[in-house]
Amino acid sequence: RKTEIQQRHETAAAEVVPSELKLYIGGEWVESASGETFQTRDPTTGEVLADVQAGNADDIDRAVEAAWEAYDETWSDYSTADRQEVLETIADRVEAKKQEFATLESLDNGKPITEARIDMGLVADHFRYFAGAARTNEGTTVPTDDSRHVQTIREPYGVVGQIIPWNFPLLMAAWKLGPALSAGNAVVLKPAEETPLTVLKLMEEIDDVLPDGVVNVVTGYGREAGEPLTQHSDVRKLAFTGSTEVGKSVMKNAADNVADLTLELGGKSPLVVFPDADLDRAVQTTIISIFFNTGECCCAGSRLFLHTDIKDQFVEKLAAAAEDLTVGDPLLDSTDLGPKVTQEQVDRTMEYIETARDSGATFVTGGEAPDDEALENGCFVAPTLIDDIDHDNKAVQEEIFGPVQEVFEWTDYDEMIERANDVEYGLAAGVITNDVTKAYETAKDIEAGNIWVNQYNDFPAGQPFGGYKQSGIGRETAFEAVEHYTQTKTINLSLN
Ligand code: NAD
Repeated sequence: RKTEIQQRHETAAAEVVPSELKLYIGGEWVESASGETFQTRDPTTGEVLADVQAGNADDIDRAVEAAWEAYDETWSDYSTADRQEVLETIADRVEAKKQEFATLESLDNGKPITEARIDMGLVADHFRYFAGAARTNEGTTVPTDDSRHVQTIREPYGVVGQIIPWNFPLLMAAWKLGPALSAGNAVVLKPAEETPLTVLKLMEEIDDVLPDGVVNVVTGYGREAGEPLTQHSDVRKLAFTGSTEVGKSVMKNAADNVADLTLELGGKSPLVVFPDADLDRAVQTTIISIFFNTGECCCAGSRLFLHTDIKDQFVEKLAAAAEDLTVGDPLLDSTDLGPKVTQEQVDRTMEYIETARDSGATFVTGGEAPDDEALENGCFVAPTLIDDIDHDNKAVQEEIFGPVQEVFEWTDYDEMIERANDVEYGLAAGVITNDVTKAYETAKDIEAGNIWVNQYNDFPAGQPFGGYKQSGIGRETAFEAVEHYTQTKTINLSLN
């Protein structure tokens, strides 16, 4: 007999799983060259949601060819106003089907529906932001003397390759497609194998908006479909979001073709709380920093630095707030934390938890699957708070990418900053204090690309996002991203 959760998911899947599940190449839905498919599963129930095409190098070749054809024959003739209109229409289409997209994302990824709706709002807003950006991608004139006129223009690369992860499937696609199309490129996009469905649905919904071949989607595994895209000599720029380990291999492949590259990689971000903070509000911000999207955020505030004066009280309040969170069916509005995306990701998180446990760390709360029979088929991990752990521990130094936060006590500011910076990552950080001078000083002292003060995980379009150190190269979600998708041409005209 099916459980209530299984029934709800089966009904929702019947309504929102797209009918087109093939590769989208040259504006056509086509089978993979190998004829092979793979399954994408619902992490809440463990049931198969859909069979998706397993693309390989041959499919990447076809997609790159289709993209160049589209670029040469149609897309490069589109004016900036035309491109603006295309991107605005994409935003409209996402907004018109926001609930369907959100439900599909929640089914495929496991994220709570309330958070999936936030994602969809951001998806539409990012397309709108980059619609406007198409009109402002200006060049310069260079003053020299009366003998010449020197001017720069920003030209697209032509065809770009984009690879995205599973934690914000459609939002990551929007972060990538928005600036690439705004700048006038054609694209080959490879979604994560764990969560291909919303991107396929997007292509179904915007098939009539884009000229054939301007966006091509090749679903498949990293090694089989992602790697050939990064090795393709006709791809002039690569954009990758995912793990630092794979990012390094993408960078090596880009070097072989001297392809331009932007990388958004992992993080192990510090959240620093000063003793003057309003504790209840700070606890809520901390909850958002680590449990938003079930901790599957590259910028998650996974290392919490609490000042000695407030530490015990703060940990007590935080543990109570974490225990109060509803872990459950992500399709319900009342759910705060859904499952992790796959069993493999649960196993990875649990390995780090065991590493911490073996070292003698204290588990203030969590550290296991939630104690709920209704969730036993799903990939759930309870919100976890770890204290008394050495900062050199592997579970602290490496990214867990789950609902797990580690607590550190600090007294001396300089020592705290040194520790906060003592990881190979530098993606994000948070500071909580009512003292604006301290907030600013801390923001300057932390080596990270994004600093939130008295809030966390806020991503308005236009605000650059990207990492220091091994967290990446380049910035997304802002005008700077359009620059990453263009190259400068200098024209020097003789006036003699
Ligand atoms: P991953 O690097 O294994 O996979 C990410 C994407 O790369 C997927 O589409 C995958 O198929 C593809 N891929 C895998 N191997 C490849 C290869 N050899 N060549 C080309 N492509 C390949 O990452 P994951 O473990 O699935 O995802 C979680 C990681 O992503 C975390 O470490 C997280 O920090 C990172 N992430 C970073 C950001 C950011 O903005 N900085 C955002 C989301 C996720």
